Amino acid sequence: MPQFRETLSRSSTFWEACARHTVRQTCRTVQHIYLCDPCARRLTEKAFNHRPPIYHGETVPGYCGLCNERTDVTLRLWFVCAICWNVIIAYQKTFVASKAVLAFWQQAVQPQFPNLRCEEREVVQLTPFARRTKTKKQSAAELALLDFLVSEVAPVPKPVFHIELKTGPGSIDDMNEFQLDVNDSNDIIGAVKNTGLPAYIFHCQVVHEYDPPTRCSVARGMWFTDIWTLKANQKDTRQRQGEYKKASYYKTAAFKPIDQFVGELGARRYEQLASRIGGLALD
Ligand SMILES: [Zn+2]
Ligand SMILES: [Zn+2]
Repeated sequence: MPQFRETLSRSSTFWEACARHTVRQTCRTVQHIYLCDPCARRLTEKAFNHRPPIYHGETVPGYCGLCNERTDVTLRLWFVCAICWNVIIAYQKTFVASKAVLAFWQQAVQPQFPNLRCEEREVVQLTPFARRTKTKKQSAAELALLDFLVSEVAPVPKPVFHIELKTGPGSIDDMNEFQLDVNDSNDIIGAVKNTGLPAYIFHCQVVHEYDPPTRCSVARGMWFTDIWTLKANQKDTRQRQGEYKKASYYKTAAFKPIDQFVGELGARRYEQLASRIGGLALD
């Protein structure tokens, strides 16, 4: 029997309201997810404004919908709107992609380049839904951190480039075009200009594998590009279907398989990229 059994009271003002929306937003959609106990508490506290599930169901051996570990997981139900639920179920994929980057670094890069260290900087945060006080373009202009920071360790510790990680279900080889929100490319350009360090973009293909009633996320492949090569391969910018957000579309030729990244480091191409920072501008 899992220890976490707390439920949202029927008399709560957040009954039939989205648990992730900070301000009451009526929502009668009940979402379900299998979670280990620590993750159920974490989601409740960090993403759901301390609003516990409305129900705890069966406990089965399976994959946790948040941390992706195979363990005892319990069915949990919350009222959550569709927009917020997409954010919640994306966390598992993002955690798996981050681990894939660090595993690649440890296996393929570290043995050949022991003087380079890769650290996760923008650790995935579970957050509630809140209105932004700044426009996205303002935030981009002030941004200094991307997902990973690579530094030379000796003779003096010195940061050399960023890595921004994008996660999706598709393989670069099968895509017609690569899509990136204009907000996201502005974040990358803003951080590059603020820190004076170039940025690579990794695309990690993460897919779901089902082990009913649970499912896990699995990293299938990884590709890389840099922000200059990506921009040089831009096809167009258009409104995303049914959304306010604008996205840019790029030729997939911008990307190379991740095993070529070792050669990129050997040629110290990131030093050449650093000399091109002045030419970048926010969209
Ligand atoms: Zn978990
Ligand atoms: Zn919501």
